[in-house]
Amino acid sequence: MPAVRETPAEALPPRHDWSRAEVRALFDLPLPELMHRAASVHRAHFDPAEVQVSTLLSVKTGGCPEDCGYCPQAARYHTGVDATKLMSTEAVVEKARQAKAAGASRFCMGAAWRSPKDRDIPKVAAMIREVKSLGLETCATLGMLSGEQAGALREAGLDYYNHNLDTAPEFYNEIIHTREFQDRLDTLGHVRDAGMKTCCGGIVGMGESREQRAGLLQTLANLPAHPDSVPINRLVQVEGTPLAGTVELDPFEFVRTIAAARIMMPRSMVRLSAGREQMNDELQALCFLAGANSIFYGEKLLTTGNPDTERDMALFERLGLRPMPIIEQAHTPGGTVHADIIDTDTHDHGAAGDCAKPRAA
Ligand code: SF4
Repeated sequence: MPAVRETPAEALPPRHDWSRAEVRALFDLPLPELMHRAASVHRAHFDPAEVQVSTLLSVKTGGCPEDCGYCPQAARYHTGVDATKLMSTEAVVEKARQAKAAGASRFCMGAAWRSPKDRDIPKVAAMIREVKSLGLETCATLGMLSGEQAGALREAGLDYYNHNLDTAPEFYNEIIHTREFQDRLDTLGHVRDAGMKTCCGGIVGMGESREQRAGLLQTLANLPAHPDSVPINRLVQVEGTPLAGTVELDPFEFVRTIAAARIMMPRSMVRLSAGREQMNDELQALCFLAGANSIFYGEKLLTTGNPDTERDMALFERLGLRPMPIIEQAHTPGGTVHADIIDTDTHDHGAAGDCAKPRAA
């Protein structure tokens, strides 16, 4: 197994050539060493006391034809999630207004679709235009997109698109059978080609091996551009889905995944998304020490709950953390900058996972 590079992490430029063995070597480091390296990278690129805060609105819930084994919104699983129609533009805009009044800078709209139908695009485009006109950044997670659809959304003013890889390429068919891993990569390519920023991560704790967790991160880091946001979700086991009853992931393994993601994608927002509600304060604190610098907050994360804002703010206070102000900007690998949050006491609406799972964003 090759040695992990010894050059100070902060001195290394972003890489897109990670080998699986190198990533495994990171995961296999003694935890104190891994944490030290991740924290060094974190503070080289961000203020480690600042955490981006995001929320997400599900504009169309449930009834999805896909069979993602973790997702309560798949129509084929009996999870008690009722399918809803696409919300009206007026209703979405009202929610966006409320979010802005609460301090949000970015508004993410999620729909439980395999992919939008072409007839859906004008409806979503209208939402994007209206939300944008409020002065908010826009984000969406709608499933797979064609190049034309991505272009139309971009033209309407969409800034970010969330589309998760879910898991390692070699484990993908254990979790999802209604699409291929390559489909995910294709959509991400369309999103990048259209000029939008990407939010892309995955879910751990689905019964995958450490090797496969390394494979997920290797694929993410070796994309042509590192995702601007990397949601790392911990499986929320929902009764009625195939993954209910999966052996729970060791919490330290989750922390290792966060730390490795921070080291491999140094300029990305590494986001704690689905599964945070099930974490105690100590585990969340370890994740922040490992380089996580974004969370979902307050509102329901699609169909899974999220810790209430009081608990979050109390934890921030205890840890000396603060929401990332809008003026903080993260440098993208391409050298451009984007404001990933907004106001100090707010939520930014970044995507959780795609569509609407306990995945997230
Ligand atoms: S994760 Fe998305 S694509 Fe998969 S079943 Fe759920 S809503 Fe559908």
